Amino acid sequence: MPIKGLTDRREMQFPKIGDIRKGAAKPDDRHIGKDLTHFRAVFDESEAAAAARFLEVYGAEPREINVMLPFAEIERNFEAWQEAYTAGALQHRCDGETCVIWRDKDGELHHEPKPCPGGCKPTGRLKVIIPELRRLAYVVVHTTSRWDIVELTANLEALARLTGNGINGIPLVLKRRPRMISTPTQDGKRARREKWMLSIEADPVWVDAQIGHMRLLAMPGASVQTPALLAGTDLLMGEILDDDDGDEDTDNAPAESVAEELLAQPEPQGPPEPDAPPEPTADVSPEVQAAMDYTTKSGKRLGQMSIGELEGILEWCDAQPADKVATPRKHVSALLDYLRAFDRPQEQETLL
Ligand SMILES: [Zn+2]
Repeated sequence: MPIKGLTDRREMQFPKIGDIRKGAAKPDDRHIGKDLTHFRAVFDESEAAAAARFLEVYGAEPREINVMLPFAEIERNFEAWQEAYTAGALQHRCDGETCVIWRDKDGELHHEPKPCPGGCKPTGRLKVIIPELRRLAYVVVHTTSRWDIVELTANLEALARLTGNGINGIPLVLKRRPRMISTPTQDGKRARREKWMLSIEADPVWVDAQIGHMRLLAMPGASVQTPALLAGTDLLMGEILDDDDGDEDTDNAPAESVAEELLAQPEPQGPPEPDAPPEPTADVSPEVQAAMDYTTKSGKRLGQMSIGELEGILEWCDAQPADKVATPRKHVSALLDYLRAFDRPQEQETLL
């Protein structure tokens, strides 16, 4: 049974350990820091180890940071409001029309709705987990740029549509990229200036796996044959999500463990079962024979797989560090070369 107010709080509470900012530190109380072209990470004083680790991985002026989002829903990861501050104190927060928080003359905060009094600016806060820190703790990425808020929202919405199943745990890359932006000048006109804006996109390795996935599922009759690959991708995500055990050897754990799961060769296999799908049995080279006999962890031999399945595995291998998957990759390539030459007319139909 839950204890009211103690164990029934649904909100997952990761601790916040720092901030990532786009601007330099304020030179004094009256001026804001100048916009930078890289990220400036500022960790809480008690988080010296995280600060040191960040510096070690990313250096002092990173333009790209690997991140994951802690929550499935966009709004819980990314808050965007209009806000007005005076001397560092929030005066009001609104949606552009109606205040959700406002401070009265005596400094008291109120939550009852009232019309926006103006003077507010866009303010975006994105909560991210940095996998290399190996902490289930988040840092907040800050922006006051309308462009950034529009871009990040669009990026996250695209991602949510792609997964259809929440955006937490996906390996992402947060970037600063130069764009020409129209900004007001001192004489009241506008000028185009280069600004280093934010964007967020899925890590290319994850994208490759996801595309390989979708392609496999689109193959005629392939869906029943793909559990190993599906499990591999789930495992990839699971490994990253659980990567908070302080194990110093887990840097490349996701790719490694997927390779092991998917392609590690178990004990030697006997001859193929009599009801195995027909295979080309004409004079095959020892190389092709070895490839056919290579067995994935799911117990399936490469020789039993369709060209579509083999291509899916090859694509997956290409997304892994080359030395981790050298053997399976060699076998899959050899078999594909052989099968394509052997069976071209039929394959062209299914691949088009
Ligand atoms: Zn306002």
